[in-house]
Amino acid sequence: MQASSNKKIVVIGAGFAGLASACSLAQKGFQVTLLEKNAETGGRGRAFKHQGYSFDMGPSWYWMPEVFEQFFNRFGKKVSDYYTLQRLDPSYRVFFSDGLPLDVPAAYDEFKKMLETMEPGAGPKLDSFMAEAKVKYDVSMADFVWKPSLSILEFAQPRLLLESFRLHLFSGFSDHAKKFFKNPKIIQLLEFPILFLGAKPEKTPAMYSMMNYADIMLGTWYPKGGMCKIAEAMTSLAKELGVRIVTSSQVNTIDVSQNEAHAISFDGKTERFDAVVAAADYQHVESKLLEKEHRSYTDDYWERRVMSPSSLLFYIGVNRKVSGIQHHNLFFDEPFDRHAREIYDSPSWPVNPLFYLCCTSATDPSVAPEGKENLFILIPVATGLTSSESERMRYLKMCLERVKKHTGEDIEADIEYVRSYAHEEFIHDYNAFKGNAYGLANTLMQTAIMKPRMKSKKVKNLFFTGQLTVPGPGVPPSIISGQIVADEVEKYFHNR
Ligand SMILES: Cc1cc2nc3c(=O)[nH]c(=O)nc-3n(C[C@H](O)[C@H](O)[C@H](O)COP(=O)(O)OP(=O)(O)OC[C@H]3O[C@@H](n4cnc5c(N)ncnc54)[C@H](O)[C@@H]3O)c2cc1C
Repeated sequence: MQASSNKKIVVIGAGFAGLASACSLAQKGFQVTLLEKNAETGGRGRAFKHQGYSFDMGPSWYWMPEVFEQFFNRFGKKVSDYYTLQRLDPSYRVFFSDGLPLDVPAAYDEFKKMLETMEPGAGPKLDSFMAEAKVKYDVSMADFVWKPSLSILEFAQPRLLLESFRLHLFSGFSDHAKKFFKNPKIIQLLEFPILFLGAKPEKTPAMYSMMNYADIMLGTWYPKGGMCKIAEAMTSLAKELGVRIVTSSQVNTIDVSQNEAHAISFDGKTERFDAVVAAADYQHVESKLLEKEHRSYTDDYWERRVMSPSSLLFYIGVNRKVSGIQHHNLFFDEPFDRHAREIYDSPSWPVNPLFYLCCTSATDPSVAPEGKENLFILIPVATGLTSSESERMRYLKMCLERVKKHTGEDIEADIEYVRSYAHEEFIHDYNAFKGNAYGLANTLMQTAIMKPRMKSKKVKNLFFTGQLTVPGPGVPPSIISGQIVADEVEKYFHNR
C-alpha cells in the first residue's frame, strides 16, 4: 500500500501554487482538501465580470509556455485540452519620452534588425547576450528552480557550483546589460522583464537575463478567454483528480501539538489532517494562523524582507474601440530611476510613475461587449501605502493624459466602468503582507535557501508553497512551487 493512500492533506489557498500542489498530491494518492477564502479559485489570477466585460484581476503576461505544458503533461493532459493559446505579435508596444512607440516583434530576426537600427552593431551583440541568457534559462529550469532549497547541500555538487558561475549569480543585471549595449532604450527594453522580479535592475542578479530569453525567444502568449482560463483549467483538473475544493472558507487557525499540526479551523468547524500545505501568503499563515512558539520567523524578520512592489490597478470598460495601442503597452515615457526610488528606497506614492496598459479586447473580443474595449492599467508602487479613491483617480487621470499624449486617444469621457484596486484590496482579498502584489523581491539575498523555507522549522508536517517561498513570484514559478512542495510532502511520509 502507498504511504499516501490513507493520509489526509489540507491545502490552504487556491491560487496557482495551491491548485498545483493539490493536483500533484492527489495524483500521488493523498486525500486532498483545498480551502479557499474567496468565492472563486485562482487567487491573484482570478477574473471578475461586469456587464459583458471579463476583467483578469492580476497576471496578464503568459510567459514560459512550456511550464504550463509540462504541468498538464504530468497528468496525461495538454494545455490545449483546456484552453487555446495564441502567440502575440507584436509581443508588446513601448512608449518612450521621445514620442516614438516601438513594437517588439515576435520573430527574433525582426527584433535583432530593430536593435541594429537603434545601435549599429547591436545585432551580433544580441546574439551573444541571448546565447548566455539561454544557458541561464536552461540551467535554471533544468535544475535550480526545482530545488526545494531546504539545505545548501542541494547545491553542493561540483556541476552545480560550476553552473552557478555561468549563471552570473554575483553580478547585477544593469551592469551586465551595459556590457553589451549602450543605447538607453535597448537597456530599458532588456530591463523591463526584470521589473517583474520586483527589485531594481542593479540589485537583481544578472542570472535573470534568463527572463530576456523567456521574453524574446519563447514569446508572449495569450489564452483565449483571458488569463483566468489557467486557474479554471487547474481547478477542473483538481476536481477530475478527486480534490475536495471548498471555497468561501477562510482558515482561522492551525492547531499544533508536540510540533505537529493536527487540525485546521475554518467556517466555525475543526477538521483533522495529517499534513498541512500553506499556499496562502506565508507571513499571514505564520503570524495569524499559528501560535507564536510555532512560527519559524519573527515579525522583525518579515519587516526586514525586501518586498516586490504592490500595484495600483484600474479595470476599465470603454464604450468604443481605442486605436494606437496593442494588447500590451508599456509607458516608459518618464525616467525609471525616480520611480524605482519611490518603490524601493523611500516608499511613497510616485510623482510620475511608469505604467502598463493592457487591452485584452484588442486580441480577444469575448472579454468586452461588442464594439467596446477592456482596459487594465497597472502602476507599480511601494508596499505598505494607503490611498483614498480620489487619490487613485488622480493617478488614473494622469495615465489617461499620457495615453492621450502618445496616441491622440482621449478616452476619459468614454469610460463607462472603472474599478480601482490597491493595497487595501490585496490585504482584504488575499491577506497580503503590506498589500504586496507579487511576493518577495528576487534579490541575491532572497534567492534559493535565503527565501522563507518551504518546510516549517518548528512544525514537522507543515509545508509552504507559493510566491513567497521558492522559486519565487510569477505564475510559472508558483505552479512549479506547488509541484515541488507535493514531492516534499511525499518524502515526509516516506521517511517517517
Ligand atoms: C496585479 C498583478 C499582476 C501580475 N502580473 C503577472 C504576469 O503578468 N505574469 C505572471 O506570471 N505573474 C504575474 N503576477 C504574479 C502572479 O500572479 C503571482 O505570483 C501568483 O498568482 C501567485 O500565486 P500564489 O498561488 O502564490 O498566491 P495567490 O494567488 O495569492 O493564492 C493564495 C490564495 O490563498 C488564499 N488565502 C489567503 N489567506 C487564506 C486563508 N486564511 N484561508 C484560506 N485561503 C486563504 C487567497 O485568497 C488566495 O486565493 C501578477 C500579480 C499581480 C497581483
